[in-house]
Amino acid sequence: MRILIISDIHANDTAFEAVLKHSEGDWDFVWCLGDVVGYGPDPNECVERLKALPQLCLAGNHDWAALNRLDIKTFNPDARRAAEWTQETLSAENTRFLEHLPVTFVIGDYTLVHASPREPIWEYILEPAVATLNFPHFETPYCFVGHTHQPVIYSLLDESGNAKSSPPRYNEAHALNGQRQIINPGSIGQPRDQNPNAAYGILDMSSGVFEHRRIPYDIRAVQRRMMDYNLPERLITRLEHGL
Ligand code: ZN
Repeated sequence: MRILIISDIHANDTAFEAVLKHSEGDWDFVWCLGDVVGYGPDPNECVERLKALPQLCLAGNHDWAALNRLDIKTFNPDARRAAEWTQETLSAENTRFLEHLPVTFVIGDYTLVHASPREPIWEYILEPAVATLNFPHFETPYCFVGHTHQPVIYSLLDESGNAKSSPPRYNEAHALNGQRQIINPGSIGQPRDQNPNAAYGILDMSSGVFEHRRIPYDIRAVQRRMMDYNLPERLITRLEHGL
């Protein structure tokens, strides 16, 4: 069984469509690590495209913001404006889909969460020290996370809990060799590692191999729709910088 692992689509349907096209034939099932909506111009289109796939999707903080499950006053002004627009724009049916997303999911050797095993909605794992604190919070050998919008692999090095981070090596097989790991496939719709291309991963469960991938998409088309909807300028320009 091969899994398409995606995260942080953020209502960017052009990037989402490009990833599905690029990965066509390479997977049987989809794991989506949350933040299907928020920031981008296509919340309904993205939920509908996802729903039509054989998939399992986790809840992210922006999905919860769209449901009013968290206080969007804690968001910065641009994110708050986009969250309010998303709430108004989402259809009742698509809102219901987001309402039923689980916060964590364990399947075989894999734990899935949006943010981190110990804080599944909120915590950003941006450095090995934070990964170290999270390894005791899941029981499987491997955990997939999103949320930071930065592709990376954290590996547990020793019994005392030290972890190291490895940057993604795109289109190269990364063996899941029994060493415990926390893996982030990166973001489809709003990368933040200074690379504007859409990120995703492919997991081959039978051979235990994971692969990071990166592909360009039509950023301008997304920016044009964001301008049409009067979404905040900073959210529009950051797409082309990958920030
Ligand atoms: Zn996100």
